[in-house]
Amino acid sequence: MDESTKAGSNGTPLQGNKPRGALRVGTHLRTPELRYQRLFETSHDGIIILDATTGCIIDANPFMTHLLGFSHEEFLGKQLWEVGLLRDADRRSGVLHDVANLGVVRWEELLVQSVVHPDGMDVEIVSNTYSEGDKHVIQCHVRDITDRRRADATAALHAAELAVADRHKDEFMAMLSHELRNAIAPVANALVILGHEQDASNPLPHRARLIIERQVGHLSHLVEDLLQISSAGKGTMRLKPALIELRPVVQRSVEAVMAAYAHHNHVVTVTIPATPVWVEADVIRLEQVLVNLVSNAAKYTPDGGNITVTVDRAGDRAELRVTDTGIGIAPEMLTSVFDLFTRAEGARGLSRNGLGIGLNIVKRIVELHGGSVVAKSDGPGAGSEFVVSLPLAASVG
Ligand code: ADP
Repeated sequence: MDESTKAGSNGTPLQGNKPRGALRVGTHLRTPELRYQRLFETSHDGIIILDATTGCIIDANPFMTHLLGFSHEEFLGKQLWEVGLLRDADRRSGVLHDVANLGVVRWEELLVQSVVHPDGMDVEIVSNTYSEGDKHVIQCHVRDITDRRRADATAALHAAELAVADRHKDEFMAMLSHELRNAIAPVANALVILGHEQDASNPLPHRARLIIERQVGHLSHLVEDLLQISSAGKGTMRLKPALIELRPVVQRSVEAVMAAYAHHNHVVTVTIPATPVWVEADVIRLEQVLVNLVSNAAKYTPDGGNITVTVDRAGDRAELRVTDTGIGIAPEMLTSVFDLFTRAEGARGLSRNGLGIGLNIVKRIVELHGGSVVAKSDGPGAGSEFVVSLPLAASVG
């Protein structure tokens, strides 16, 4: 029973159903037939109907004839290969065999001759078989995918070019960082020697030496960060995990950073639990996390401000908090400060020495340890808090 009969038997007069093209074109077709005829005639996919027994074309829609540049009459009675499709005999028998056995088959053909694409058209064809009365037919939907395939090919080419450029950039960064590191090391060594040669009667060289020392410290910090993103970016950061007691690591790191920032007179408080806090971690990387967070607290907190570092347990996690009373972070920046090369507006005022790399490295290291890090702040001027959460070591935690 077709749709129109159903509608009629439901007591819904077809004409009362806002008749579509049926009355307009004045044919005697019923609504569903008209609908499918319009689909066939106006579709922007080519449609070809084949006699399944002979393989001859028995119908083709206007879009199909337009794509291939034949008239409707020229199509009729031809085999697919005669209109430029399935020209390869082996492929042809494979496709016809599949459509007969599976009922539906999909394939693609490249560089089909077409008047629309004089330099060859790429098509995707989906065929299915069904019966029209006692006749078996095959219906082929032919979709022009030339533009899509060309866009895909161009995108793939661009992606490959970008990958090469990205690799060159990484190699350049790695090479540059190594060269810089090699250049900085002798300067740092020379400074140590100069430190032994102090002249108590003249404090000026001593002060100059401290400035150089600080700046060399900044430089080596930046270079280490650069080195790391050139390798960490490629997923080559390797951890050497061991059972680590967190409290001494925290104390060591805070002391090292605060020595470098002593002239800023921050009030630094370290709060640690009375009993050991064990984590499975790479101690060098963990120190790097702490040094980065505490250095940031010092960099972005005006002289005399408070910096608090706390170690705690929270369930099966160790929690590290670095809190400061500094410039704070705007709510919309709280997540993006962890993105590479991101620096907040106000940051430049207090520290010109940043590249926006440190927090990205912190996040990667923490996540490699199965942990997480979040930034919190009530906004500009309200101070910041960075909370690192790490799994406690299973055996002793
Ligand atoms: P850098 O400090 O070298 O710019 P980071 O990746 O360490 O790079 O930090 C990214 C940005 O996050 C900083 O430029 C700053 O805007 C913001 N930020 C980080 N730590 C703090 C903090 N303690 N207080 C305020 N802003 C911070």
